[in-house]
Amino acid sequence: MKLEFLGAMGSVGASGISIEDGSDKIVLDYGTKVREVPPKFPLPVERPKAILLSHSHLDHCGANPLLVKKYSTPIYALDVTKDLTELLLEDSIKVSKEEGVELPFNEFDVRQTIKNFVLVDYNKPFKVGNFQVTYFDAGHIPGSAMIFVESKDTNLLYTGDFNDINTRLLEKCEEDLPKVKNLIIESTYAQREHPDRKREEKELVKTIEETISDNHPAIVAAFAVGRAQEILLILAKHGISYPLFMDGMAKKATTIINRYKKYLREPEDLENALKFVTYVKGRMRRKLVKEAACIITTSGMLTGGPVVKYIEKLYKKEKASLILTGWQIEGTPGRILLETGRFIHENLDLEVKMRVKRFDFSAHAGRKGLFEFVKKLNPEKVFCVHGDHTEEFAEELRREGFDAVAPLANNRIFKL
Ligand SMILES: [Zn+2]
Ligand SMILES: [Zn+2]
Repeated sequence: MKLEFLGAMGSVGASGISIEDGSDKIVLDYGTKVREVPPKFPLPVERPKAILLSHSHLDHCGANPLLVKKYSTPIYALDVTKDLTELLLEDSIKVSKEEGVELPFNEFDVRQTIKNFVLVDYNKPFKVGNFQVTYFDAGHIPGSAMIFVESKDTNLLYTGDFNDINTRLLEKCEEDLPKVKNLIIESTYAQREHPDRKREEKELVKTIEETISDNHPAIVAAFAVGRAQEILLILAKHGISYPLFMDGMAKKATTIINRYKKYLREPEDLENALKFVTYVKGRMRRKLVKEAACIITTSGMLTGGPVVKYIEKLYKKEKASLILTGWQIEGTPGRILLETGRFIHENLDLEVKMRVKRFDFSAHAGRKGLFEFVKKLNPEKVFCVHGDHTEEFAEELRREGFDAVAPLANNRIFKL
């Protein structure tokens, strides 16, 4: 088996891995680096037999249309991943138009991409050329998968993005895995540990309730897929005694995810929580900024979406809250706000007087979880990708006796 890394080497974004066995070649994920404008793509790959897609986040699916356009490549994924990928790819075209960026594919190519999906299930092996493939639940977002690929000589497990703890929305990743020879593991939190989840939940609820009793809105910035639903379920568990709204792409993502209840930890919880939620439409926003209400909205790192409109209206209000619900990547408006107290986006530069708080409701395994995962599988070889510190992670694993490597541009092709 020949393994070739095409992206997400020493960083997050533009995931892509090519595997070859004889005349058969398949690609694991083919995403974009969304924090760059224009977005970056993985290295090119010739005529793959299939894309095995781990989940619908753009850093994994964003460049799929390129391969579909060129080679009409089929895409293997779960049903909910298909619907969410459609939503996110359509949005990526919309956003690029707003930013005046030309993407190498258009709406038509996105429609073709969606038509090329081949639906698979968790735990059900299937054949692609010389390979046998099995998807296991990754616990990261609905439909997310760890992909196990077997050839006649060897095998590998690609974790995609995974979570090893239960969240309100999802069960943790599959633990009953086959004997893995080669492991390709994400490294997002290799150098960071998550805070205690229960305490984060309590603090979040307290912040919202205090803001509302001060008669002001609490704006909760969240990623559309996974995070917005997680926040909603946290609020529901603690009891919702205030007006609750949802805005931006989170609305459509929530509607899709609620259609696939079978993937949720408690299938009915989201439906029940939604009874407390009003979707924001049309002119409602203008009124909402004057109300004591909680609004869950996109985007999670303040890079666009309705959250920008809310900040523009509320930045001077000391009693209003702006709540961030995850890690803020360097260079994003969310990170800059935390570091400088200013909201800088397009032509805006505002000194934010609102209460700004950041919480960690990550959907990735933390540092301890990553090490435990490797130890439990005890593979012959480990490849560390999808993180800003993959080399340090590989080095630490080597010190623990593993044959670990962080693929980089000058060292990215391996024989298994
Ligand atoms: Zn992801
Ligand atoms: Zn990712």
